[in-house]
Amino acid sequence: VKYLSTRGEAPPVGVLEVVQRGLAPDGGLYVPEALPEAPSGPGVSGLLAPFLAPEWGPDECASLVRSSLDFSLPVRRLEGRIHLLELFHGPSGAFKDVGARVLARILGRAARGGGAVAGGRRTVLVATSGDTGGAVAAAFDRVPGTRVFVLFPRGAVTPLQRRQFTTLGDNVVAVAVPGPFDACQELVRAALADEDLRLRHRLTSANSINLGRLLPQMLYYLHAARRLEPDDGDGSGAPDPPTFVVPSGNLGNLTAGIMAGRIAIPGARFLGAVNRNRALVDWLEGREPDPEAPTHATPSTAMDVGRPSNLERLRWLAEATGDDLADRVTAESVDDEATMATLADVYRRHGVVVCPHTAVGLAAARSAAHADPGAGPLVVLATAHPAKFADVVRRATGAAPALPPRLARLAGREERIVELTGGSAGLTRLLDGA
Ligand SMILES: *Cc1c(COP(=O)(O)O)cnc(C)c1O
Repeated sequence: VKYLSTRGEAPPVGVLEVVQRGLAPDGGLYVPEALPEAPSGPGVSGLLAPFLAPEWGPDECASLVRSSLDFSLPVRRLEGRIHLLELFHGPSGAFKDVGARVLARILGRAARGGGAVAGGRRTVLVATSGDTGGAVAAAFDRVPGTRVFVLFPRGAVTPLQRRQFTTLGDNVVAVAVPGPFDACQELVRAALADEDLRLRHRLTSANSINLGRLLPQMLYYLHAARRLEPDDGDGSGAPDPPTFVVPSGNLGNLTAGIMAGRIAIPGARFLGAVNRNRALVDWLEGREPDPEAPTHATPSTAMDVGRPSNLERLRWLAEATGDDLADRVTAESVDDEATMATLADVYRRHGVVVCPHTAVGLAAARSAAHADPGAGPLVVLATAHPAKFADVVRRATGAAPALPPRLARLAGREERIVELTGGSAGLTRLLDGA
């Protein structure tokens, strides 16, 4: 597969160039020139293989996937047709581990040769609303020849999330930005668009603007679709096509799902579950999102995104595939009260504790199940470990979820944070000075 820019003014390039640049030279996002018709082999890695060819052969791709996804991804039935796909058993306790770990390995390979800009130290920029920073920091911690700058909205991430990127090796620098997540994202985009700066530091991004993080996320959709039990109801033995309910912010996860569905899961549908930040709902209803829209603070902080960057890719998917996304993709906005009530109810009824993002998905799934009782299975992506959001969970349920040991160990460590002043110019100074 070759890759083009959503803005149509960059030459087609291969996958190594795509992951090393992060952003296309015309300021657009990289997208595949065309989607493969089907996976290239039987295992889930066959879904990723065409995207990494020819640099990675099918066997190399399979071993890349095996070594990156060395944690479990269970699918559990919760109630009725509603299932949870648990994506939080990786190092940082969030689904973003999947993309971050594969991206780190792809970039590691690029550094060892072959890449257009091989040699020298690489700088990875990442804007985080909470979980991305932890996943990327864990994936790149102490990786030789790589330094990572994690830009986070000061005061808007939980102490535990913050510790995941403020307490690691010297190659991980935490940068506190005065402003919301969108401001962090703009700073990363502006830095990557500055050609001198990009070349001087071999900059790339580990946000979902980097396709290298987004492509691996296709894998768990196929994994889950294959684990659903056949529906014995209609006697055909074939499982009904699933609806994936995707708690969404920047829309990377949803974009990856729609791509996976299109290539490998016939009939799959998608329900984008958002909090009060409803750009996706507006767009699917035919309204252009307001570029000045404020970002609302909600209990599902990792989804507090006013201007989701992957809308640009969704637009392309609709145009390039000639599909009316409206046939397969719907969205629902869930308010804070419903989020908290669902968190509490799922705990009371089933003894299951979920994170607030997963609760947004469950609330949307329950209303979808209610609205269409005859539809197939609903698979809610459980995006983070609930213990990462202990305060919200305790407020809703009265229970304090236990931290996995790997995360508990961070509590006593010393934090290192750099305060950003002066916007883009300040970030340039920071990169040049460090
Ligand atoms: C990042 C994140 C999301 C949103 O994912 P996008 O790909 O940005 O839409 C949802 N839940 C959690 C826990 C996250 O960390």
